[in-house]
Amino acid sequence: MKKFCDKCLKEVECTYNEKYIDISIDNNKINYLKKYYICSECNNEFLDDLYDYDVEIVNKKLRELNNIITIDEIEEIIRKYNIGKKPLSLLLGLGEVNIIRYLNGANPTKEISDLLKNILNNPFLYELYLRANKDKITEIAYKKSLGKTKQLELNSKQSKLYNVSLYIINKLEEVDPLSIQKLLYFADGFSNKFLGKDLFSDLPEAWIYGPVYKEIYDCFSYYKGNTINYNELLSNREYNLEDEEIEYLNNIIKTFGCYSGSLLREMTHITNPWINARIGLNEYKYSDRVISKEDINLYFDKICQEYNITCQDDIINYSNDLFIQSKDNLFRDNN
Ligand SMILES: [Zn+2]
Repeated sequence: MKKFCDKCLKEVECTYNEKYIDISIDNNKINYLKKYYICSECNNEFLDDLYDYDVEIVNKKLRELNNIITIDEIEEIIRKYNIGKKPLSLLLGLGEVNIIRYLNGANPTKEISDLLKNILNNPFLYELYLRANKDKITEIAYKKSLGKTKQLELNSKQSKLYNVSLYIINKLEEVDPLSIQKLLYFADGFSNKFLGKDLFSDLPEAWIYGPVYKEIYDCFSYYKGNTINYNELLSNREYNLEDEEIEYLNNIIKTFGCYSGSLLREMTHITNPWINARIGLNEYKYSDRVISKEDINLYFDKICQEYNITCQDDIINYSNDLFIQSKDNLFRDNN
């Protein structure tokens, strides 16, 4: 077989070979099946027409290792929101051909990858980008994509948990993702007492930063510590919540929504369900252990007795106490 040896700089007789090798790129150690030729004249190992395969497989390994969005997931964004590759690039403030490059195997940075993943999970975030950058794409592309996005928002089988989260965002007007998580936790906590049922069936995980509902984390992680403001998008939305649930949520939001995300985190850190789920872990240890419903119900039942909570207004006795107990921890953490 004849191929181009990059040492002899000419076509040479060669043999094909393959072996697993380890390489290191930017501190990422990658193991993959290397395919190559061996020059019969100089023994050089070279790639010639195997070069594209080599780049592709290394990029794929890097993607997996760094949890970078996959090509399939990027294609899903394009289908889901009925948007072209170039318009999508422009909406996100990327160079016109960047999405095409990613689809051809190039890896986005971690930051762009995170943005794309959040957009895939969250039509509201996509709509914000679409509206803010509509001048960068054609009017036809804009309308086509907006129509599809609206349809998704209305028709998609959005979970109760997601609807409750959006309700909280709308009610508070400005809220960060950390606060939403903790408000969900307290809303779940007192729901048996005041609604006679679980508000939603999802269970939180006992993360370092308190109880976290993974689905909601994935929807809003792009905002990190920043404020989510969807007022304009949420103004006429239907949340599929019963009147009783709305009234209950309003009370929870009134009682706990006045505290910052980091204070709410400290407050959940002294609740037993989170503490119990993290037994044996130090405070900086990553964990995705699930906090059990039994533990949540048991704890909040006990709180209702202890604080003599008989109506929703009484919850404030508990929240005040949590605040007093946890504010020192917050100052300790910040110093
Ligand atoms: Zn050679």
